[in-house]
Amino acid sequence: MSIDQADLLDRFCRYVQINTRSDPDSPTSPSTPGQWDLLRLLESELKALGARDVRLTEFGYLLATIPATTKKTTVPKLAFFAHVDTEQNLPGAAKPIVHRNYDGKPIVLPDDPAQVLDPARLPALAGKKGDDLITASGTTLLGADDKAGVAAVMAAARHMLMNPSIPHGEVRVCFNPDEEIARGVEKLELSDVAVDFAYTLDAELPGSIEYESFSADAAVVDIRGVASHPGWAKDVMVNAIRLASRFVSALPMEVSPERTEGRDGFIHPTNISGNLERAQVKMILRDFELDGLEAKRAILRDVVAKLQREEPRAEIKLTITKQYRNMRYWLEKDMRPVEFAIEAVRRLGLEPISSAIRGGTDGSRLTERGLPTPNIFCGMRNIHSQLEWVSLQDMAAGAATVLELVQLWEERS
Ligand SMILES: [Zn+2]
Repeated sequence: MSIDQADLLDRFCRYVQINTRSDPDSPTSPSTPGQWDLLRLLESELKALGARDVRLTEFGYLLATIPATTKKTTVPKLAFFAHVDTEQNLPGAAKPIVHRNYDGKPIVLPDDPAQVLDPARLPALAGKKGDDLITASGTTLLGADDKAGVAAVMAAARHMLMNPSIPHGEVRVCFNPDEEIARGVEKLELSDVAVDFAYTLDAELPGSIEYESFSADAAVVDIRGVASHPGWAKDVMVNAIRLASRFVSALPMEVSPERTEGRDGFIHPTNISGNLERAQVKMILRDFELDGLEAKRAILRDVVAKLQREEPRAEIKLTITKQYRNMRYWLEKDMRPVEFAIEAVRRLGLEPISSAIRGGTDGSRLTERGLPTPNIFCGMRNIHSQLEWVSLQDMAAGAATVLELVQLWEERS
């Protein structure tokens, strides 16, 4: 069973040329019109492939069905997700360059020769000699995050629709907007997806199966000082700017993103603003465990209380809001989605890799809302940079993992 690599390459190159960069300042869903362009293209391609119930919702979710081929009635329904937007900080609309049968030498990107993919500095690249690599041209993202996922899901869908002898239950395809600005599944109704389990294709290394993400809170400290003319400020003025900077300096560096890795969480100030009278510090709190997250909240409460004691004339208010939770808390109740993904990867001759994601995914939110959704690989590398690249063979392995998975669920049901 093999994925049509020529078709997969065509698709990927077609999708990355469309500018789908998302925009956190836009109130609409999708946040940018380019995402509609790709969604409409995918809608027409899915219809042409013979997918059923192809539907593009008013908020930019594209859903489609690949009907079941099995006679068994007990096979759970599965959905495969990928996001159509690309990272907000770099231009999209890539000019993809295909490096056939990669020779293992440094690749200079022509539109900005300062951008060099050097296997001496990128060991993963050195291992890809002989693969067909795709890069951007130097001034944009490639957009393999997550168009490698989109292309892999499309290639797997095409393969299933063209080979109805492959036994599987009902499979749903779901392409969503705005993952990069953390709104990926905000306006998606789970009743519209209508499946039992799902997977996102949004991980990098071939063999990756991710089922742990951070648990996340956001925190804001609002400080109100006392304004006065600086010439007559003695014993009157309380400068909110000084209190804000004292607050930030009191946060322990050993729980900062700059000093933590692996399974350690952190407190991360992301924004500071203000004037003499009012100041505000925004932060994010991250940990893999709920008690670890609570410990971070306690640090903030202590720092605020101490500052308030030192300056009783100021008003200092801490507000903490929940963002998302580690998907492991739900997945460990029924590990089949993860176990089958591990088995699918093994059947392809790859070594399964599971690491805890130091971030969140659309799957974290879906899992918490009741749809268990681990994240599997699609081959993208060096994401969120001009040096992003992907191997066609890795992308095809992502698509092949989808095919193995749908059959495994059928076999074991
Ligand atoms: Zn992504």
